[in-house]
Amino acid sequence: MSHSVKVCNVVKKYGDFVAVDKISCEIREGEFFTLLGPSGCGKTTLLRMIAGFNSIDDGEIYFGDKVINQIEAHKRDIGMVFQNYAIFPHMTVYDNVAYGLKARKVPKDQIEVKVMEALDLVQIKNLKDRKPSELSGGQQQRVALARAIVIKPGVLLMDEPLSNLDAKLRVQMRTIIKKLQKDLGITTVYVTHDQEEALAISDRIAIMKSGKIMQLDTPADIYKRPRNTFVAGFIGTSNFLDVQVRYDDKMNTFIKAEGGLEYPVKLKRKLETAVLSIRPEQFIINGPDGRGIPGEIQMYTFLGDFANYEIKLPGGQVVEANEYTKDIDFVRAIGDRIRLDFDPEKISLFDQEGTEAYL
Ligand code: ATP
Repeated sequence: MSHSVKVCNVVKKYGDFVAVDKISCEIREGEFFTLLGPSGCGKTTLLRMIAGFNSIDDGEIYFGDKVINQIEAHKRDIGMVFQNYAIFPHMTVYDNVAYGLKARKVPKDQIEVKVMEALDLVQIKNLKDRKPSELSGGQQQRVALARAIVIKPGVLLMDEPLSNLDAKLRVQMRTIIKKLQKDLGITTVYVTHDQEEALAISDRIAIMKSGKIMQLDTPADIYKRPRNTFVAGFIGTSNFLDVQVRYDDKMNTFIKAEGGLEYPVKLKRKLETAVLSIRPEQFIINGPDGRGIPGEIQMYTFLGDFANYEIKLPGGQVVEANEYTKDIDFVRAIGDRIRLDFDPEKISLFDQEGTEAYL
């Protein structure tokens, strides 16, 4: 049986409030798929509908080609990992991991092999006789992970599994999770509100807002080609600049930034004004006599491999630009006058409603 998950026009309402608003997406077999979005956007609700903990008000969810709307959670061939670990405090690590196998009446000798295999995969074989109270947060989350994968589920569901861990452990654990997922080839749906974690761990990300998917793409495409200003602002740092659009008599299109500079662009539709979105690393910082939008450095932060500058433009807007140490052998100073240039192929353009406008 294929372990893809298909979500078709799925709706969840709490009273009049629509938490999941006709969402459709397909999670491919073996894929690491992340639901990412701000608090309250509906990602946990959708995950819990896939798990079978929340009912589905409208639409269908398929595992492979089978509709599973009416199938109870414990019959859905899923493993689940929660933010708060949810392991049994009175049981040893071994017994926690063995629990699901015992419930499935797996023979005792096989249980031992499978449990030790799962503990080995999450690198805690040596802790098998401990109780959860004798474990760190990271170790407890490894127990939860071993318990979820020991039953070899078709689909692994994880709800913010790393948010209770400190920053360093979070980075370590996400590498372990990603490697494990790839080694086992297990279809995985992962919920997080941490954009860096999502970019690091996922094959594809669905970015959600108010119960809807705003963009579904690979991490690199989401970063490089945001489809709307919400995604551009939510992922990484983006500067937004209002620009005028000009058409010449041959219908070539240009955007005009502050300071009168024009850049050729191709637009999907005719616009008079547009919103330009540009990452700090996409700005090219030139000296005061160079090409670009004039500005003055207000603040800088030296970060080793690059310096981050806050730059005030003539109209008063402040933008962020980065300059890499390998490209320049000095750090600019507060008060320095500079010019900001960019490659028009490396920016995003949106209409005033925030929808992508660049061809
Ligand atoms: P978070 O990151 O804060 O967990 P989320 O994106 O996972 O956010 P959900 O937990 O899916 O968000 O909740 C989506 C919306 O539905 C929220 O506005 C929440 O208040 C609402 N909601 C969730 N569960 C219920 C419930 N049982 N009754 C009423 N409203 C609910």
